[in-house]
Amino acid sequence: MNKIEKKIARSANGAGLEDPQRSLTGSPSGEATVKVDLHCHSTASEVAKLGVQRALALPECATPPREVYELAKRRGMDFVTITDHDTIAGVLELADLPDVFVSEELTTWFRGEHQAVHVLCFGLDSG
Ligand SMILES: [Zn+2]
Repeated sequence: MNKIEKKIARSANGAGLEDPQRSLTGSPSGEATVKVDLHCHSTASEVAKLGVQRALALPECATPPREVYELAKRRGMDFVTITDHDTIAGVLELADLPDVFVSEELTTWFRGEHQAVHVLCFGLDSG
């Protein structure tokens, strides 16, 4: 069981969700379902990766991690993660919360290709 699965299991026991029955009974198959936005940024994404924003010297996102968390919870997310560009600094500010898991949007390239691609990586763990 990985770190995300452990957090979901704890939530199923009522440790992390305001209303675990609402989130864990929505699937017709009876499997647990949870709501989480799997692609969002915070102020830790200091350098915009999109050409237009970068050309105008605008950041990728102007919302601090704590505000990202609070907004996600107000919008009904059961879990929160932040996928900043090439850093986990933002989500680490929240990592001690029971309903947060660490993720990142990595920039990488296919061998021989000039065009970068972004890969979302979820459930990062130092162990
Ligand atoms: Zn992104």
